[in-house]
Amino acid sequence: MSTAFRIGIDLGGTKIEGAAVDLSGAVRVRRRVATPRQDYGATITAITSLINGIEQEIGTAASIGVGIPGAVSPITGLVKNANSTWLIGRPLKQDLEAALGRPTRLANDANCFALSEATDGAGAGMETVFGVILGTGVGGGVAIGGRTLVGANAIAGEWGHNPLPWPASDEVPGRRCYCGRFGCLETFLSGPALAADHRRSTGQNMEAHQIANAAAGGEAACLASLGRYMHRLARGLASVINLIDPDAIVLGGGLSAIPTLYDEVPRLWAPFVFSDRVVTRLLPPCHGDSSGVRGAAWLWRAGEVS
Ligand SMILES: [Zn+2]
Repeated sequence: MSTAFRIGIDLGGTKIEGAAVDLSGAVRVRRRVATPRQDYGATITAITSLINGIEQEIGTAASIGVGIPGAVSPITGLVKNANSTWLIGRPLKQDLEAALGRPTRLANDANCFALSEATDGAGAGMETVFGVILGTGVGGGVAIGGRTLVGANAIAGEWGHNPLPWPASDEVPGRRCYCGRFGCLETFLSGPALAADHRRSTGQNMEAHQIANAAAGGEAACLASLGRYMHRLARGLASVINLIDPDAIVLGGGLSAIPTLYDEVPRLWAPFVFSDRVVTRLLPPCHGDSSGVRGAAWLWRAGEVS
C-alpha cells in the first residue's frame, strides 16, 4: 500500500478513538466519537466515518489497524472474549474490510498497548515486553522483537483470567469472575477490585485512585489496602516473569498512575521469581492513553506502508 500514514483505531466500550500516525511516529490527526453501545451495525458505521474523516483531513488513504476489546478467533474469524458483548460472534474484520474496501488488521487492545510501548515507548529497543492493562478490567499482551505475539488461540498474554498465584488462605477461592471461574487475577487487580477489597476491610466506599492518594498521604487503612494490592500484583507478575522472562513490564490503564507501584512491586516480586537476581524492569507507559491508537497503527510495519 502506498501511503505515508498509518491510521490506528482504538475501539473501546465507551469511545472510539482514531489517529493518523506519520512515518516518524508523530500523531498528526486525532479524533474520537462515542461508541454506539449494543449496536453492531452502528459501530461499523462509526468506525468507517471516523476513518473517512481522518483521511479527508490528511488528504490520503492510509493503512488501517484496529485494537478491539477481545480477539478474532483464528478458527472462526469471529470476535470472542469481548467485554463489549455486542461484538461477540461477529465477523468484524470482514465487515470492516467490506466497508473500507481494503485489508484491515485487528488485534486485542492489550496487545496494541504492548506493541506501542515496545515500538517507541517505555520498552523501545527491548526484545520482550509484557504490557499490562490495570483498569476496569485486567488485560495483557506480549510484544517480541517489535511484533505482537498472537498465539494459536489468539489469547497470548491473557493474564487476567489466570488465578492469583501463591494465594493466602483468605484469598481462596476468591470472588466469582464474569468469565465463570473464581479468583481470577482480574478479581483482585482491577480498579473496582481494589475498591471492593478496601470496602470489605474498612466499610469505606472509595475508588481506586482515592485509596492510592490517601495511602500516599499516610492514611493507615488505605496503606494496608494498597499494600495487599501490590503484593498480589507482584505475585501475578512474578508468574509472568517465570514464564516469558520479559526485559520490561509496562503498566497501562488507570492504576498505572500510582507511582509507588514502580518502586514497591519489583521489591515484592523478587522472592517469587525463580532467579537469584531479577533485572526485569517495571515501567510506567510513555504514551498513556495514546498507546491504544499508536499500537493499532503499528499493526502495519514500516516496510509495509512506505
Ligand atoms: Zn476470569
